[in-house]
Amino acid sequence: MRVKRRSKHRKVVKFYATCFGFREPYKVLVDGTFVHHLLQNRLLPADDALQALLSASRNPPLFTSKCVVAELRRLGKSHADAFDAASLLATARCEHDKVVNAVDCILSLIGEKNPEHFFVATQDADLRAKLREVPGVPVIYGLKSSLFIEQPSVQQRKFAQLDEEKRLHMGKSEYQKLLNVASEGKTAASENASDDDKNKRSIGSLVENALGVAEKSKFKRKRPKGPNPLSCKKKKPKPQLRASQNQVPKAEGEAKRKRVRKRERSHKNSKQIETVS
Ligand SMILES: [Zn+2]
Repeated sequence: MRVKRRSKHRKVVKFYATCFGFREPYKVLVDGTFVHHLLQNRLLPADDALQALLSASRNPPLFTSKCVVAELRRLGKSHADAFDAASLLATARCEHDKVVNAVDCILSLIGEKNPEHFFVATQDADLRAKLREVPGVPVIYGLKSSLFIEQPSVQQRKFAQLDEEKRLHMGKSEYQKLLNVASEGKTAASENASDDDKNKRSIGSLVENALGVAEKSKFKRKRPKGPNPLSCKKKKPKPQLRASQNQVPKAEGEAKRKRVRKRERSHKNSKQIETVS
């Protein structure tokens, strides 16, 4: 069971590496709920646990933000340990002069492209649902004393597919159609669903994301470029083939006509012979 789970996780990490350019050292952006969970379930040291989860060759650096830490402080005694632990972590720089709530802060750090290639670790179901809509954001969560990476969402898989299809000469308008299908769930679920313009804009930016990612990713899938030349017969030169093809039916037709004429003649002859006799 454990081995199975690990290989599943490895596949997910590979998906993000291949399709979205994630590279080691993997960076993990944690929120207060996740730090709290780590402490409660003694998943320590946390960076070892996360390294094992990601099958990484070194400890992934952990990040919070000042807004996350501030929220933990606000939660008071119940989260004092989490606050202490979180305040020791590196902070990802957010642009909030005034502290905002942790969910908004993390969403703003991820933005529309997750340019820093963060894995986001959270126990917050709403935040997880929102992150599923952003292409290229792997989500980590804990269940009791085990850690998990979410499988890439349908939307994320679609974006990854779009990258490939784009390479196979696909127009942006065709993309948009596909994206509209892909983001139907998003537009229905998003808070600003009523605002059509905003939706359009977000879909547009998601297209850009897909395009940008395709250009940036250094990993390209190896694909066979054609049949193995060693297993193919030599091609015959084309023009000859055509000429012979054209000639054959003509020649055959003529021969046939000749044959028919001959038969008719012989038939006539035999009749004449009969009448004579
Ligand atoms: Zn912030």
